[in-house]
Amino acid sequence: MSSNFLISIVIPVYNEEKNIKPLLQTLLPIIKLYQYEVIFVDDGSSDKTVENIKKETAKSQNIKLISFQRNFGHQMALTAGYEHTSGDCVITLDADLQDPPDIIPQLIEKWQKGAKIVYAKREKRDVDDSFKKITAGLFYKYINFFSDTPIPKEVGDFRLLDKDVVKFLNGLPEQSRFLRGLTAWGGFPAEYVKFSREKRRAGQTHYTLSKMLNFALEGITSFSIKPLRLATYLGFITSAFSILVILFKSIQHFIFNQGDWLPGWASLFFSIVFLGGVQLITIGIIGEYVGKIYQEVQNRPKYLIKEKINL
Ligand code: UDP
Ligand code: MG
Repeated sequence: MSSNFLISIVIPVYNEEKNIKPLLQTLLPIIKLYQYEVIFVDDGSSDKTVENIKKETAKSQNIKLISFQRNFGHQMALTAGYEHTSGDCVITLDADLQDPPDIIPQLIEKWQKGAKIVYAKREKRDVDDSFKKITAGLFYKYINFFSDTPIPKEVGDFRLLDKDVVKFLNGLPEQSRFLRGLTAWGGFPAEYVKFSREKRRAGQTHYTLSKMLNFALEGITSFSIKPLRLATYLGFITSAFSILVILFKSIQHFIFNQGDWLPGWASLFFSIVFLGGVQLITIGIIGEYVGKIYQEVQNRPKYLIKEKINL
C-alpha cells in the first residue's frame, strides 16, 4: 500500500457468475499498489453472481456489495455505485473483462497530472462482431448530431472520475441517467487512454438490439430537444409544400382554365398518406419527451437496494 489516496472501483454486474473470480484475479494484483475499495453493484442477477461475490466480501473488507431488489439497468447500477463510493477517484468497468484492468495505472497517472476525467478509449474492436461494430459506429456518429453536449466517441463506461466529478453527478436531480452524456455535460478537463476491447470472458452480452435502441433514444432525448425542433421544421416544410401545390393547382384551374381537376386522386391519396406519416412521427417525438417529463415528475427512487455488505 503505497498511495496516500483511495481509489474506488465500481463494477455493475448482471448475471456474471462466471466472471467474478477471473475478474478479481486480474484486477486485484493491479490495484494492490494503491489503497482501494471494489464495489460490486448487483443489478438483480438471477444466477450465482451474488453468492460468488459474497465469498469475496467475506475474505476482504475492501470488497463491497450493493444488491438491487430487481434489474434496474446498467446506468442505474453505475449511479448507485457512484453514490456509495468514498474514493478520491472512481473507476468504473465492466465485469466481463472486456475493459482490461491493466490500463488502470495509466488512468491514475493522467488523473494525478490534473485531469478530472480520464476516458478509456477503444482503439480496436476486432473482437466485436460486425453487427456490434456497425451499431456502435452509428450510435457514436448520430448521438453527436443530435446532442447539444459533445459526447466523446468510442468511449464507453470505462473511465476514471475525480471525486469532484462524482460529487457533481451525485448532485444531479434527474431520474434519467445517461452517464456518458452527464459526465461530458459538466465540462471537466478530460484526458484519454487508448485500449483495445477484449472478448467477453463468459456469458453473453445483455445489450440486445432493442436495449441498444432504447439506450440511444435515451441518450438523444436526455441531451437535446433537437428532434422536437426537427419535427417543427418538418411540419413547416410540408405545410409550405402543400400550400404551394394548392396555389399552383388553383391558379391553373381558375385563371388558366387548364389542368385536370378530377383525376387527381393519386396525388390526393399520397399527400394524405405522407402527411399522416409526418404527423405520426411528430406525435411520437413529442410523446418521447412527454414520457420523460412524466417519469421525472413521478420522482420514484432510481433504484431499490436489497442488501449492502461492507458498506
Ligand atoms: N449490466 C448491468 N445491468 C444490465 C445489463 C448489464 O449491470 O441490465 C452490466 C453487465 O454485467 C456488465 C456491464 O453492465 O458488467 C456491461 O454489459 P454487457 O457486457 O452485457 O454489455 P456490452 O459490453 O456487450 O456492451
Ligand atoms: Mg461487455
